[in-house]
Amino acid sequence: MILIGNGTVITRNQDGRVIPQGAVVSDGALICDIGDTASMKKKYRDAEWVDAKGGVIMPGLINLHDHAYSAFARGMSIDGYVPKDFCGILEGMWWKMDRAINSRDTYYSGLVTWMECIRNGVTTVFDHHASYGEVGGSLFELSRAADLVGLRTCLCYEVSDRDGKEKAKAAIRENAEYLKYTGQQKEDFRCAMMGMHASFTLSDQTLSACLEAAGDGCGCHIHVAEGLYDARHCRKNYGKSIVSRLQEFGVLGEKTIAAHCIHIDPEDEARLKETDTMVVHNPQSNMGNAVGCADIPGLAGLGTALGIGTDGYTQDMLESGKASQLLIKHNTENPAEGWGEATNMLFAGNRVLAGRYFKTPLGVLQPGAAADVIVLDYHPYTPLNENNTEGHLLFGTNGHSVVTTMAAGKIRMRDRILVDLDEEKLLAEARSQAQDLWRRVNAGGISPFAESKFKMG
Ligand SMILES: [Zn+2]
Repeated sequence: MILIGNGTVITRNQDGRVIPQGAVVSDGALICDIGDTASMKKKYRDAEWVDAKGGVIMPGLINLHDHAYSAFARGMSIDGYVPKDFCGILEGMWWKMDRAINSRDTYYSGLVTWMECIRNGVTTVFDHHASYGEVGGSLFELSRAADLVGLRTCLCYEVSDRDGKEKAKAAIRENAEYLKYTGQQKEDFRCAMMGMHASFTLSDQTLSACLEAAGDGCGCHIHVAEGLYDARHCRKNYGKSIVSRLQEFGVLGEKTIAAHCIHIDPEDEARLKETDTMVVHNPQSNMGNAVGCADIPGLAGLGTALGIGTDGYTQDMLESGKASQLLIKHNTENPAEGWGEATNMLFAGNRVLAGRYFKTPLGVLQPGAAADVIVLDYHPYTPLNENNTEGHLLFGTNGHSVVTTMAAGKIRMRDRILVDLDEEKLLAEARSQAQDLWRRVNAGGISPFAESKFKMG
């Protein structure tokens, strides 16, 4: 048993209870009790004590759209890379990079990303992977790294025709094998989806093959209308919107994540709502790629299943929430918009949507919920109570405020030190691997499909 106490507990339970001088007690992978520190200490004398030192104790955060493989892009320079638009970013950087990624790169990029998640208080991640340099076994490499770090994951591989039919088939196979593996798991710790890149790099034949391999009850994880090019390509080649095309193939539904959904119309919004598809907003990435902003107020108004992710841009969900409300305000030119939507996605939407995959309640501190608990070194200079936790978290904290992270009942970071990991050694190994990858990226990649079979236009 572990007792984390001496902090302000933000429960996120049904009543939105906040407990000053509160404590959370875990037994195994679940929370077993919650209350004020004095009575919990008295009741659980033998529990291991973790002192929150007057900070904030709250549920671990959830990221609904990430790309661990993008980790090694940090500090990388690609010869001659000057993108003019989103397609230029994909072709000039991401596709060039993922074509060079081998299984060892995948493992280390996963490892450093998952470590950064724990550092930022993120305990559950839905990842969307691409490593066309070596497809087979890549999800298992990410999973192995997540097990070492102690992160709860839902993984998938982004199927695409951009590197030719054989690679697309290998990607479908990888998803199918990982789906089979997670389907046999007893622990509520690893899940899988059928990953797909985006409409504009998926032929009808490949889309059908994905759905056939996925089988009933499996959700898909796909980028939808992130760039204007994707939307126009679909209209031009299929005479319909991306959302209609996906709906006709049976991609949409309550277990599917449609990331971005920027260039869509009101009819598409209605389809997403009607099918109860999960729409995931990625504010910093959208700004970085200069692709626009989803109509989050409109989608929220319809009651769409909305959540928030980082798209690999960062692992800091608190920063992502902050950026989301700024982007929505800026986009709508209305200061009354954005705040409610961003905080709802981050603190309510993400846990509800993650619950479509994980049976144990996540993102809430209550008996029976996952023992995913974080401690923030945050000491407010204005009153903190049940009515204003969001204001404190978004204006007063970020991922670096997190000092202690517990995931599934195990302390994974304590006072900013990752537990049971030789961080220095692992980071040195990752740096060496990144350097090797950068060399291969600039050499044109190791894939036999060094010249993309996919042509824009
Ligand atoms: Zn993405």
